[in-house]
Amino acid sequence: MNTREMQDEIIRLKKEKDICILAHAYQSHNIWEVADFVGDSFALSKKAAEAKENNMLMCGVRFMAETVKTLSPQKNVILANPDADCPMAHQMSRLDVAALKEKHPDAVVVAYINTTAELKCSADIIVTSSSAVDILKKVPEKKIIFIPDCNLGAYVAKSLPEKEFIFVKGGCPTHLRVQMADVEIAKENHPSAELLVHPECRIEICESADYVGSTTGIISYAEKSDKKEFIIGTENSIIEHLQFSCPDKKFYALSRELVCHNMKLTTLGDIYNCVKGCGGEEIFLSDEIISSSLKPIEKMIALGG
Ligand code: SF4
Repeated sequence: MNTREMQDEIIRLKKEKDICILAHAYQSHNIWEVADFVGDSFALSKKAAEAKENNMLMCGVRFMAETVKTLSPQKNVILANPDADCPMAHQMSRLDVAALKEKHPDAVVVAYINTTAELKCSADIIVTSSSAVDILKKVPEKKIIFIPDCNLGAYVAKSLPEKEFIFVKGGCPTHLRVQMADVEIAKENHPSAELLVHPECRIEICESADYVGSTTGIISYAEKSDKKEFIIGTENSIIEHLQFSCPDKKFYALSRELVCHNMKLTTLGDIYNCVKGCGGEEIFLSDEIISSSLKPIEKMIALGG
């Protein structure tokens, strides 16, 4: 069976079995081609909740499948590769957050969506990389405990000098691999290119960029821009997708180290096995976890996220 034959069989079986395939932006292009929706994690969860299908197949990492389940508890949610997990999602525990709350009782706890469903239960508000600044602008509290990504937190804090941010630890191990030396080399090699980076990169890298935004934001910026060359400072799969949508433009990796090994675990073969009914893992969350982790997500939605 070749790639095209496997894709055709996946498309046939997903329709027959009432399956909706959700592919995160960091999946490979051959997975995008069989997906019903592609995008960032929260956008996929919203699409899943609106979808007519009862079976959701998440091609991404575990916390994304959990968010889909939280927003659609009545649906069956399958994680295509059960080993695909995000290390950042586990960098803090509920006990860590409880200790922080005790130390800063007047602070609001804001968690990046890249956290486990269990950790979301400790948060007051969830944010995404694209919504964080706008949402936190509307929060009345001056003091913000921002978990777990210190880089995204530092980027948001720079836009909101009127707030006081408390960071503890944490960050995306993939984006943390990028160093300023990579920026210098990439700009020297591609002097006409614009630098587009994700706010999970270190703050000095964000400060040297022409555009900082979520994965979807980076794709949209590059697609709409009149410029012809771009250095991409997020997971390298975005380069592949952009080369398909903008064949007349050139895209370069900020660093060859910008590869999320967890995202890369999911293959077309995993999806094929899942739609045949012999792969993946169904996600189960207790009623308590669903209702407690939904509250800070609903708060984000109420604030315009
Ligand atoms: S790119 Fe970073 S935040 Fe995203 S899944 Fe991989 S490790 Fe987690």
